[in-house]
Amino acid sequence: DAPRSLNFIEHIIEEDLEKGFSKNDLRFRFPPEPNGYLHIGHASSICLNFGLGLRYDAPVNLRFDDTNPSKEEKEYVEAIRSDVEWLGFQWDKECYASDYFQQLYEWAVMLIKEGKAYIDSQSSEAMAEQKGTPTEPGTDSPYRNRSVEENLQLFEEMKAGKHGEGTHVLRAKIDMAATNMLMRDPIMYRVLHKPHHRTNTDWCIYPMYDWTHGESDYIESVSHSLCTLEFAPHRELYNWFLDQVVEEGRVRPKQREFARRNLSHTVVSKRKLLELVNRGIVKSWDDPRMPTISGLRRRGYTPESIRNFADTIGIAKRENVVDVSLLEFHVREHLNQIAPRVMAVLDPVKLVITNYPEGQEEWLTAENNPEDPGAGEREVPFSRELYIEKDDFKEEANRKFFRLKLGGEVRLKNGYIIKAESCTKDTDGNITEIQCTYDPKSKSGSGTEESLRKVKGTLHWVSVAHAIPAEVRLYDRLFSHETPDAVKDRDFMEFINPDSLKVVTAYIEPSLKGAEPGERFQFQRLGYFNIDTDSKAGALVFNRTVPLRDTWAK
Ligand code: ATP
Ligand code: MG
Ligand code: MG
Repeated sequence: DAPRSLNFIEHIIEEDLEKGFSKNDLRFRFPPEPNGYLHIGHASSICLNFGLGLRYDAPVNLRFDDTNPSKEEKEYVEAIRSDVEWLGFQWDKECYASDYFQQLYEWAVMLIKEGKAYIDSQSSEAMAEQKGTPTEPGTDSPYRNRSVEENLQLFEEMKAGKHGEGTHVLRAKIDMAATNMLMRDPIMYRVLHKPHHRTNTDWCIYPMYDWTHGESDYIESVSHSLCTLEFAPHRELYNWFLDQVVEEGRVRPKQREFARRNLSHTVVSKRKLLELVNRGIVKSWDDPRMPTISGLRRRGYTPESIRNFADTIGIAKRENVVDVSLLEFHVREHLNQIAPRVMAVLDPVKLVITNYPEGQEEWLTAENNPEDPGAGEREVPFSRELYIEKDDFKEEANRKFFRLKLGGEVRLKNGYIIKAESCTKDTDGNITEIQCTYDPKSKSGSGTEESLRKVKGTLHWVSVAHAIPAEVRLYDRLFSHETPDAVKDRDFMEFINPDSLKVVTAYIEPSLKGAEPGERFQFQRLGYFNIDTDSKAGALVFNRTVPLRDTWAK
């Protein structure tokens, strides 16, 4: 691949290196909160951070930002770990903000002793009222000048579980008139009588994000702490908290921001995705319609396709929406190279070759992947009765219809040229059978003059007697709107596409009999499909990863 130019984060790092920052001190982290499964937006952050690790040969930590026990679970920790691994990245240390609870507590006590933090015993409403507005300064809390002794005592009692939720908080004593509202005495700790998935009931005071994040970066010696743009106003506070603890000779982390990535026709927010699961709109976090990493994996996406997508869109300074067709382009491109071709019929109609002897069968040779000569060949059974796709036949059609019509000819893929002679219909006028004749000398690859004869269309097919039925799940966009969660005065749930899943029984060539969950195929002329984890021996279930072409009607 051609070397790409540096992105703006890499420019920042290069400048730091030029100014004398040691390359050996570079360290990055990916810091998910385990309150849901990772989604395609996280893939951008993962590829950015781990990509920097690879570029600079620097370690990257996987840091669980687990400071809110009411929303976090072990299940999410495990899902996050396996998703990052599946994407193909290796972290240096696996870290948890909860491992720093004791250190953070000690630093908080230090701030109290230095007169830089105090216990506020007002309601959250009262505190909100005193915050002021961006143009007017806030009002001091009546508790702002509590004595150090009283603050220490109350903080100790909060930690010991003597106070209920909402009774007291610890606040940093910064500046109630600061132009940056986040600097107006931000909360550092709140009381939460909730067990934590790792520390259990050890703590009933939990540190807030701002107090935790920078200090965790510092503890881990992270050099460049990359986060999304909404944290830009937090940078000042991040630095203020670091100023309180950073010692000379140690790496001082630097927060830098990049734009969140949104994908069209879906939502990339764990909270909203959880709502889809909880309301039963999708079956699970890894439902193949979900924009989660696990959903995409189950859908048949490859790690390479997601990494290539993330690298192509790169990182930006402004938020925007990336069209989902770009993601689909990347998976198509990769699967085109690696997916074996097979024949399957999704919407079958029977075709009888009247001049092919009854009871006879033969095995035709088929190429597994024209893009990969090493993929070899296989044999597919051919017989008198076949299935083809219903819409590959019309009684009458104009000259642009290159499929089968009465009196017309097509080639059966890997097989013979056939001619449609007649068809049978039911009382409603639906075609139930097509009768054809074949040219026995026209077999593909036989080298005869007839085999080289050009006909306009080639159809895929399966032999009725040999085909295996399988469940095929056809997916459509989960939302009918391009930006479901960015429409003024409307809830994203209003834009759910009610037809995002269609299940059909298809007929598949018998070479797939022993195929296993996760295996990916191209169903010729139809698209890319993989075997779903719901599959059982003798009852295959396929997901359509993506159709062969971008057929989404704009
Ligand atoms: P969500 O709203 O889905 O919960 P989050 O930002 O709260 O997202 P975190 O678990 O905190 O989720 O995310 C871990 C890292 O991934 C953070 O650095 C965050 O900024 C980044 N990230 C999250 N969503 C996106 C996105 N859509 N595009 C790029 N980076 C993202
Ligand atoms: Mg977050
Ligand atoms: Mg979040």
